[in-house]
Amino acid sequence: MTATRWSRTSRRAAALVVPAAVLMALAGPAQESLAYGRAQYPAQSAGNRGTDVLALQRLLVSKGQSAPADGVFGASTTAAVKRFQASHKLAADGIVGAATWAALAPTLKEGASGPAVSALQGELNAKAGAGLGVDGKFGDGTKAAVRRFQTAAGLTADGVVGPATWKNLLWHYERVTFSGNNLCDQNPDGNKTANWGTAAAVAQLEAAGRAFASAGRGRIPVGDLGLELGGNIPGHASHEQGLDADLWPVRDDGAQCTAARITWKSAAYDRAATRRLVQEIRRAAPGHVKTVFFNDPQLISEGLTTSWAGHDNHLHVRYCEPAHPSAAYRC
Ligand SMILES: [Zn+2]
Repeated sequence: MTATRWSRTSRRAAALVVPAAVLMALAGPAQESLAYGRAQYPAQSAGNRGTDVLALQRLLVSKGQSAPADGVFGASTTAAVKRFQASHKLAADGIVGAATWAALAPTLKEGASGPAVSALQGELNAKAGAGLGVDGKFGDGTKAAVRRFQTAAGLTADGVVGPATWKNLLWHYERVTFSGNNLCDQNPDGNKTANWGTAAAVAQLEAAGRAFASAGRGRIPVGDLGLELGGNIPGHASHEQGLDADLWPVRDDGAQCTAARITWKSAAYDRAATRRLVQEIRRAAPGHVKTVFFNDPQLISEGLTTSWAGHDNHLHVRYCEPAHPSAAYRC
């Protein structure tokens, strides 16, 4: 199970090589430095998933703690975080905030080896399309990938991974993988590049898509998330923090990825399957779904969704984290 999951991630990393580089080039230096200037360590806690959780687990192991390498922040990861925090005079709350990240992430340079280097390589692959083998050895290829990332982020491109490089890399968004996760890509507002979210949001959404497959009601259409570096996105007041995702409701013929878009009022609307979708979204991210905006009065009465103007034809999932600069994204 674990091996399957992460070999899928490796294929995703390989597929990212060109597009991520192209997007970075198109974004232009001014926009990039503005966005990277907002970088901060992403707070993570029990219930999170994804690339940053896997990096956390590898960093814990590099510090002598025993932790799984499955990218899922469960009880054993929480216990490992608390042990690490206690041994470093940090508040042992099991929440990985800026101070814990900073204490976990070592300065790395060419010649280094071990799980911390694997954490770095996994981040470079998922966030920057580096396409590195995750071998835990900091060689020429890893150094070149670090330098490319540092250049894009407006940092000194010295190939040495210190606190600023870790922070920017952990903060950087990741792109959704549609194939293999029972998801399809929709671009209702023409925002074709808006498929990026925080590593946690993306992995949680992908896990929900895979779980929904067993409902036998087709794939889930994913509209916009956010841009690679966050920031303003046309047609959306939110979607700037990498924690918002628009999904389309399920049709009774399961053809929501190909047939006409519906609302909860449409004859073709499948309430039972849409309810199941919301349940899978919540199950894949326990404690990390702030709300799901969708105007079906029945689902609202069941406490599954919340009404918001403009949300008859899509479910707007808002993920949250234990700490965030904006209260709207704090769990
Ligand atoms: Zn929305």
